[in-house]
Amino acid sequence: MDQTNDEGRVTLPTGEGSEEKRQALEIAEEARAEEYSHPSFAGQLFMGKFESSLLFPYPKQSEDDRKVGDAFIAELSTFLEEHLDPDEVDATREIPQKVIDGMAKMGVFAMKIPKEYGGLGFSQTNYNRTVMKVASYCGSTAVLISAHQSIGVPQPLKMFGTEEQKKKYFPGFREGKISAFALTEPDVGSDPARMTAVAKLSDDGSHYILNGSKLWCTNGTIADVIVVMAQTAPKIVKGKQKKQITAFIVEMDSPGVEVIHRCEFMGLNGIYNGLLAFTDVKVPAENVIWDEGRGLAMALATINVGRLTLPAACTGVAKQCLRIARQWGNERIQWGMPVGLHEAGREKLAFLSATTFAMEALTWLTSSWADKAEVDIRIEAAMAKLFCTEALWKITDTTMQFRGGRGYEKASSLKARGEPPFPVERMMRDCRINTILEGTSEIMKLFLAREAMDPHLQKLMPLLRGGSNIKILSKLIGYYGTWYLKQWMGSWLCSKHCELGPLAKHFRYIEKNAHKLARYLFYYMAVYQQKLERKQMLLGRLMEVGTELFVMAAACSYATSLEEESATDLADYFCRMARRRIKGHFAAMGDNDDKQANVLAKYFLEDKMQWLENGIIPIE
Ligand SMILES: Cc1cc2nc3c(=O)[nH]c(=O)nc-3n(C[C@H](O)[C@H](O)[C@H](O)COP(=O)(O)OP(=O)(O)OC[C@H]3O[C@@H](n4cnc5c(N)ncnc54)[C@H](O)[C@@H]3O)c2cc1C
Repeated sequence: MDQTNDEGRVTLPTGEGSEEKRQALEIAEEARAEEYSHPSFAGQLFMGKFESSLLFPYPKQSEDDRKVGDAFIAELSTFLEEHLDPDEVDATREIPQKVIDGMAKMGVFAMKIPKEYGGLGFSQTNYNRTVMKVASYCGSTAVLISAHQSIGVPQPLKMFGTEEQKKKYFPGFREGKISAFALTEPDVGSDPARMTAVAKLSDDGSHYILNGSKLWCTNGTIADVIVVMAQTAPKIVKGKQKKQITAFIVEMDSPGVEVIHRCEFMGLNGIYNGLLAFTDVKVPAENVIWDEGRGLAMALATINVGRLTLPAACTGVAKQCLRIARQWGNERIQWGMPVGLHEAGREKLAFLSATTFAMEALTWLTSSWADKAEVDIRIEAAMAKLFCTEALWKITDTTMQFRGGRGYEKASSLKARGEPPFPVERMMRDCRINTILEGTSEIMKLFLAREAMDPHLQKLMPLLRGGSNIKILSKLIGYYGTWYLKQWMGSWLCSKHCELGPLAKHFRYIEKNAHKLARYLFYYMAVYQQKLERKQMLLGRLMEVGTELFVMAAACSYATSLEEESATDLADYFCRMARRRIKGHFAAMGDNDDKQANVLAKYFLEDKMQWLENGIIPIE
């Protein structure tokens, strides 16, 4: 059984299951990024290594870069405050054209375009700082900017575009052209193997004919140019037919492109998101991005970087919640005391502030790593996305509870009654989608699990390839004997981390628990082998632990880089909360109800509990 792909990389055994599942896994495996030569901080945690030097001292944005960002953000903020009413966007479902034009004039749609193509050439840090600011004010406007630049045409062309493609498309973005990213289809959500959009190469090889539809394409209803993923002719590899997914630049004014429907959602009312149809659309062959068959790898590589924007956007909204909670916590008197001083209120304020602090720590750390382009940040980007999107949902929920009835009331209604128009309900509606798009939280955990297991799979490759001679086995036993022992010893003999001052205890905890996490992961890999892939609840807990450890490390390092005394208290409180959660995850690995949940869900899907639905008016 050969467990390498045609590039010689080790791939996960696809195990039993349907042909469809095998294909889905195979496609996902093919799209995994190539090997990275630089270490991943969080990836190493799963191997029991806490390389604190990778994030301590906390990286600082250079003065020159900061000044560029400061000037741009100040101008943009003033413009938005003067010309954009986020509640009107929410009510009318429109971002006024004059606002879009004004932003275009400033170069908002060319922030990520390199200067040599007429763009602003922003660092990831300045781009994220800008998105954070906009997201704190108007979610829909932040999404317009981000869908265009984090995943739309600029990012994939920056990474994989030809010189001709860059010269052709980049200058247009400085003039305000808008782009989008179209991967999802009615049957393609988390699983791209089900893709039905097809692009057929013409006989003379000059163009492709694109047919199919794309769902929920953000900016799709107003975009000038979009990236579309479609199936191209399958390849025969090792005698088997392999699906090929290719990415294309598609100009929206091409004959045969149609916006079928502008979608409406729970929140983000002002986004221009649509169902698009392509009927015999002629796409020039030179519009293929990267290579034929590399479309999914391109999409995933794009999203790996694109994902870094979500933590920034989430942090912006969380900071707005802090501002609202601070004001309300002091002003609202009930039972003789400001609500922020009742202990239940204090608990909420501590959670809000410490969690926001950790989100910010993650955001600037990962942005800085992306700018340096020295470290492999796929894992960290996924963790930052997972953590920040889940945390923001809890933060808006907590803020709503803390605001009481006013949290549930629309800003326009509050304003009409003469009260401060704090838009907590809008922020809550707007942020809910974040745990779903650009990889759902569940898919993030599966992605992390795959990457966490990779170093072991690499080591085991000779065995997976079918080799079982004594030499291979004794080498593996030798390696793992020492490695496993180290994971036990490391739990006792960790560094002092005095450089962290009062937060040193948390760095020691991270080091010890990275060893424990590595032991657990290895143990479960050995016990369940190929079946581990299906143990999603177990894997989920392991990934939660790894993520919490990474966030703790980022928060502690960030605190030491700041002059504010309270930064240490915030990091300390965050770490205390995270440690309790980690304790719970470790405990649940041995003591859980996973088996019962599996049985119950099976009965449920087999309609054995349909009686429980009695008493409702069914909605068809
Ligand atoms: C407002 C909005 C904007 C969007 N913008 C874009 C865009 O610009 N471009 C674009 O291409 N797409 C876009 N999307 C699509 C978005 O990326 C998808 O919604 C997302 O990928 C999830 O796919 P799905 O909704 O089909 O859910 P599904 O994949 O059907 O998943 C349903 C549930 O099952 C879970 N699940 C799925 N597979 C597994 C598994 N293997 N193991 C465990 N759990 C699993 C998921 O986590 C989820 O909870 C947008 C969607 C929305 C709502």
